[in-house]
Amino acid sequence: MPPDPSPPDPDRYLLRGLLICGTCGEPMRPAATATGARTYVCPTSACTWPAVPAADVEQLARARYTARHEATATRTPRDRRRDALVDALTAITVGVSWINLHYTWRD
Ligand SMILES: [Zn+2]
Repeated sequence: MPPDPSPPDPDRYLLRGLLICGTCGEPMRPAATATGARTYVCPTSACTWPAVPAADVEQLARARYTARHEATATRTPRDRRRDALVDALTAITVGVSWINLHYTWRD
């Protein structure tokens, strides 16, 4: 692994492994801008997909999950939220823009 000047803490990225690039189909990875804002970026160097703002996309995904699994969502502790999402979803694919998310549910 090459050194990263500001390595993002992977535990702060709720959608790591779940968020899929809409262009090339690769899982987007945690990253951070020069100012420290959290993002998800496509790992494919040839892919020109723009970075996705992490807090915004996580809020959207949480809201969608909560609407679908309300009973589970309300009793899931903060540190188990990612596990709960992985239990419910196989992928969240980014569409024509990061706000257009396609959810692939397990049920
Ligand atoms: Zn891509």
